[in-house]
Amino acid sequence: MAIIVQKFGGTSVADIERIKHVAELVRKEKEKGNNVAVVVSAMAGVTDKMVAYAKAAARLDDNEQLAEYDSILASGEQITSGLLALTLESIGIKARSWLGWQLPIKCDNSYSKARIENFDVSKILAGFTEGEVAVVAGFQGISHDQRIVTLGRGGSDTTAIALSASLNADRCDIYTDVDGVYTADPRIVTKAQKLSSVTYEEMLEMASLGAKVLQTRSVEIAMKYKVPVQVLSSFSNESGTFVISEENSMEKKLITGIAYNRNEAMITIRDLPEPWIAAAKVFGPLAEENINVDVIVQNISKTGGATDISFTVAKDDLERAIEVLENNKEIFKYSSLTISSDIAKVSVVGVGMKSHSGVAKEMFKVLAEKGVNILVISTSEIKISVIIPSEYLELALRALHTEYGLDAK
Ligand code: ASP
Ligand code: MG
Repeated sequence: MAIIVQKFGGTSVADIERIKHVAELVRKEKEKGNNVAVVVSAMAGVTDKMVAYAKAAARLDDNEQLAEYDSILASGEQITSGLLALTLESIGIKARSWLGWQLPIKCDNSYSKARIENFDVSKILAGFTEGEVAVVAGFQGISHDQRIVTLGRGGSDTTAIALSASLNADRCDIYTDVDGVYTADPRIVTKAQKLSSVTYEEMLEMASLGAKVLQTRSVEIAMKYKVPVQVLSSFSNESGTFVISEENSMEKKLITGIAYNRNEAMITIRDLPEPWIAAAKVFGPLAEENINVDVIVQNISKTGGATDISFTVAKDDLERAIEVLENNKEIFKYSSLTISSDIAKVSVVGVGMKSHSGVAKEMFKVLAEKGVNILVISTSEIKISVIIPSEYLELALRALHTEYGLDAK
């Protein structure tokens, strides 16, 4: 018997009608003779509401507070897992709900962004022998201290893919409100097209660049364990986008997609002395505070002998990053900080770039023609990113989409 994991996002379980529809999608997989494990998110909007409650109650800046925060946030998935199991039972499908601690899904102690260390599937497998569908609450696990932890926003994807890897599932279907992965955000680029497949590497770049279809960490796990993933809509009957390994990818397009991220801010630290150790000094304390730094550039300052360092962080981390820098002003000995929040990152992604040149040249040419000022450039083997003023974002996305031949006919 094949094992299929189905994951349903918040919009797919937003009310009882939709949960009934999800139960039918589970029934379809069962009727094909498969063993089925389901992972659910909280109902759309519920987690946001919990976040607002928690933030209104306290500042949430130590681990003890974050443990309570997680305990609050995890409740959304407890509700939907129970509701779906109940609905399945009511249409004659044997099912039961599982919370993270019950399986258990063992995680580290990083409250609000924990990592899964061990996913125990023995109880789920035992259920399969009875024909039972497992309905697992996404997003949550249990810490070393036996407390409830969450896996970071969007973490149900990670639950689903880690579960698929642990079960050695034949496929993991991620049901969401879009019907697949697109060449660009169709809300901005109307000529964007649905991709029939993307490679893990491309999906990883696109997810980390802000394409919200999958949590970045879930893609890392899928890539590591070669989990066959499909992203599809629970509201349509069409197949979605398959996320596959490069070996299995038939055609290697030069550019697969264009991603963007508006949720970063840029900090420039001016006039750091001793340029050769400046970066080493500055990024240590930021890392200790768990602040993820993205694009980094180091320049010579206008003042001789010193250096300026610019880098981007998630807007959510901006305040804390500034605080760390200000608290260390005496040690770092910089002159000032410049903050820009109205920036956006645009990235072109494609595995074909590994073996072709000229992609960057093309990108800079198009942006220059449109008068878009590039603030920072960064590249990897399969991606080129630029930071630009956010007011040019839509223009840049559309122009690049056309230039790389991605527009729908
Ligand atoms: N409910 C959580 C969130 O909104 C986890 C998820 O939906 O994946 O972030
Ligand atoms: Mg999601």
